[in-house]
This record gives sequence, C-alpha cells and structure tokens, in this order.
Amino acid sequence: MINSIQTVDMIVIGGGINGMAIAGQAACKGLKVVLIEQNDIASGTSSKSTQLIHGGLRYLQQCDFSLVRKALKERTVLMKMAPHLIKPMEFIIPDYKQTTPHWLTRLGLFVYDHLSGHNPLPKAHKLGLSTAPYHSFLRKDIQQGLVYSDAVTHDSRLVMEWALLAKQHQAVVLNYQSIIALTEEDTGWQVMLADRTYQATMLVNATGPWVTRFHQQYFPSLDIPKMNLVKGSHLVLKKELPDNKSYLLECADGRIIFLTPYEPGYSLLGTTELEYGGSLENITVEQTEIAYLLQSVNVYLQNPLQEKDIVARFAGVRPLVDDGLHNAHQLSRDYHLQLQQGTKGHLLLSVLGGKLTTHRRLAEEALILLQKNSASWPQHSDAFFVLPGGEPLDEAVFMQTYSFIPTPILARYLRSYGTLCLSWLKGTKTLDALGTYFGAGLYQAEVEYLLKEEWVKTVEDLLWRRTRLGLSLDEIDVEKLKETIKQHVHPQ
Ligand SMILES: Cc1cc2nc3c(=O)[nH]c(=O)nc-3n(C[C@H](O)[C@H](O)[C@H](O)COP(=O)(O)OP(=O)(O)OC[C@H]3O[C@@H](n4cnc5c(N)ncnc54)[C@H](O)[C@@H]3O)c2cc1C
Repeated sequence: MINSIQTVDMIVIGGGINGMAIAGQAACKGLKVVLIEQNDIASGTSSKSTQLIHGGLRYLQQCDFSLVRKALKERTVLMKMAPHLIKPMEFIIPDYKQTTPHWLTRLGLFVYDHLSGHNPLPKAHKLGLSTAPYHSFLRKDIQQGLVYSDAVTHDSRLVMEWALLAKQHQAVVLNYQSIIALTEEDTGWQVMLADRTYQATMLVNATGPWVTRFHQQYFPSLDIPKMNLVKGSHLVLKKELPDNKSYLLECADGRIIFLTPYEPGYSLLGTTELEYGGSLENITVEQTEIAYLLQSVNVYLQNPLQEKDIVARFAGVRPLVDDGLHNAHQLSRDYHLQLQQGTKGHLLLSVLGGKLTTHRRLAEEALILLQKNSASWPQHSDAFFVLPGGEPLDEAVFMQTYSFIPTPILARYLRSYGTLCLSWLKGTKTLDALGTYFGAGLYQAEVEYLLKEEWVKTVEDLLWRRTRLGLSLDEIDVEKLKETIKQHVHPQ
C-alpha cells in the first residue's frame, strides 16, 4: 500500500523525556516536528526513575564535577519551568554505620551547595533525629544526621508536559506507532507508519536503551559508541515518611539508595544497579533486588519494612556510554550527542545516555548542533519560560473556588497538573458537574481530559503514567474505567 507522504522538518523517534524535550523545543523554534513512540509516552526509562531532579551527590565521589554543576543548574531552571511538578525536597543522611567518613560527607555537601550557586533551597545542615517525628521511625541509636536539599518530580508527567508543549506548537505526537520502514531518499529520511509516511531532512534517534538496536537496524553502515545497559529497580511501599522528608542511605556494599515520599501515604525505595543483558520489553524486579533493598533500608528503621508493605514495583534500564575504562557503577551519567549524515547527506542525531535532570539542556544542545549543520532553519522562534501546567496560580484562591471538591483531590490536581486542571474545572460549580465517579478521586471530567489531550489509549497509561491512581483504584473501578477508555479509543 502506498500512503501519502507528509513532509516535516524533523522526525523524532522515542517519546521519553529526551525525545519529547527535543520535540518540544524544536516546535517552539518553529520547526515542523513529528514524534513517533512505539509504545506509550514515557513508557520506557522515563517512568522508571527515582524521581530526583538533582545534581547527584554520588557523582562527586567520582569527581564528575562538571555533571554535578550542570545538573544543579538545571534543577534551578526546571523548578521555575514546572513549579507544580518539581518540588524542593530535603534528604536526611542518618549518621549511622556509614563507610564514608562523616567529615567527607560534610565536605561533599559543602561542595554540593557551592556548585548549586544561587538558589532558594536551604543549605545543608545538621539535624537531631532522636526526637519527634524521627525517633519512632529510625532506630533508637540514630541520634543525628545531615540534611541537604534537592528536588523531586513525577517523571512521566514531566514528559507529558513536554508533549503538551510540543502539541501547543503544532508538533504531531504519536504513541503506539510501529515503524514499518525507514529509508533515506534524495528528499530526506522517510519513516513509514501503518497509515502514512513522514519525511524530514533531520532524524533524531532518542530511543533511550533501544538506541543501539535502532541504530543497527536502520543504519548498519554507521558507527555508534558501545553502550552499557544498567538496570535499576524500585519498590513502592505503603508507608508514609515522617515530616515529608527523604532519606539517602548507605548500603553495606557502599552503594546508596533513596527512600522518598511518593503519593500521600506511600513511599518509594530504590534503586538497585545491575548490568543488564535481558529483554528491553520485559524488565522485571528480581526477588534478590527486593531482598537487597529491604535489607538495606531496614538497617536504619525501628520497625522493619516487609514484603507485605510493597504495593507496586518497577524496573528500568539506563543506557550509559561505555568508555572502556570504568565498570557500570562508575560510568558517567552524562549524555553524549552523536551527529552523523546518511549516505544522501541527511542529518541523523543519536542521543546517548543522560539523566532526567539534564533533559532540557540536552535538547537545547541537540538543536544547536542540528541548526549548525542544517541548510534550512526557521527564522521565527517562540520563547517559553514555563511548561504548560506551570503558569502562575494562586493556590489559596484555587482551593476556595473549587471548595466543593474534596481537598485531597484538589491537592492531587495541583501537584500533577498545575494549571492544566483548569481545562476541566473552569466553570464547574458542583461535584456532579465532574461526571461519573470511578473511585480514588477520579471523575469523568479528568478521564475525558486525559483521553482527549494526553494521548491515553489504555488503562495503564491513565493509572500509571498520567496519574498514579493505580495505587489506590480497586479492581472493579479499573474494569469500569477500562470500558470507558475502550469505548473512546474504539467507538462502535
Ligand atoms: C533505575 C533508574 C533510576 C533513575 N533515576 C533518575 C533520577 O532520579 N533522576 C535523574 O535525573 N535521572 C534518573 N535516571 C535516568 C533517567 O531516567 C533517564 O536518563 C531518562 O529517563 C532517559 O530518557 P530517554 O528519553 O533517553 O529514554 P526512554 O525514557 O527510555 O525513552 C525512549 C523511548 O523510545 C521508545 N522507542 C524505542 N524504540 C523505538 C522505536 N523503534 N520506535 C519508536 N519508539 C521507540 C521507547 O518505547 C521509549 O519510550 C534513572 C534511570 C534509571 C534506570
């Protein structure tokens, strides 16, 4: 079947944080962009992170000062761009049985604060842990610790904000699309999908852990650096952390893990770190990883966490550029951009590695590189300072205006969507106006918004990536929701 060819400026493959940030920024610059994702948006590594927007205290040990400085700078920029989605967080380092000497941790925190430059977050300081609310959570013999500041986010919603920004600027974002063929013609790269073909002179391979596979499948004659895949697993626990603070904990093997607040009433524990050679389509949390994480955290806790406290688990794989010198634990988390030309001279940019925290900067550099090497680049460019949900909002007025909606639901709307939630709330005066209730604070109005605006095609998209309501919605409600989504996606 010959389908029509639509010509655009850039085709981005991969709807994780990096691909979506490139698509979003390119669209703001006036480029015609299409992004193609094989599965759901953010279904790869970008929904499997520890949710930290951070400089990476650990990378100081590796003396990767430039990455830490860059990431800390990004932390400040991103907190302004998505203040609803990226929140300051204090991390406690309990002073207990660490192999890293106390003086070295203090020095590290001093350097970390110094590298972060001017920013509104509190500087590192000591904290007594023998009193409320910590004394009943941590072991009795943990008397004090150090506290430092970083930020946390909801990773897949951050990707969604970039997707929405891209859409606002006329980009086409497609999820659940398989590439049938990819060829280079005289006129550009041609990507054939089931019902149409896109053509562009710039192609971006932002397929995260799939980057090598994609490259070797479609551009076998072009080189790509060797990548190392490292898997990390997380556990979601039914456990609220005191005072909404996080913990950085050193394990017996010298690695560090994080215990952070997740949704209200839940916390997130991770991550493990294992070289990975398995399937990218089915990345599972092993029993040995569960044992490792629970054992490591329980060293610090008065009431040990148990397997029965685990309500969800997820594992992801990060691709790291293999420098041939270091093991997986020591390889840099920084990204590498590789620009190549196909046999007919069209541009191919491959994104290698990277962190959630550095995605905006990565996208900025990717576009500078492409622009320098592109014959045609649009003149007009839209400035953007905040992501779509990050417009200023008076929270007190918001809570008052919609006080007929239960406070926990409003709080979730604010932290998940920011001002985006006004698109279904504006003009409503009663709870009934939000339509059918699915349970766990989910009303029809939000479901309809997600179906219409945020590319939801399956119940998992809605429950685990657009929201985290999969944690609290019961099975009967999930079935009801599945039916609604099915009717929308496949109307009869
Ligand atoms: C366990 C773990 C914890 C982490 N924690 C943090 C953290 O706390 N903070 C931080 O800053 N960073 C963290 N990271 C790193 C961060 O999550 C990743 O750097 C980032 O998510 C990578 O995004 P990406 O867009 O490159 O890849 P992905 O999110 O994996 O996106 C690639 C996409 O490409 C799609 N794709 C692949 N092949 C094709 C194809 N043929 N056609 C169409 N689409 C295709 C995939 O389906 C996927 O959605 C963590 C990583 C891991 C593994």
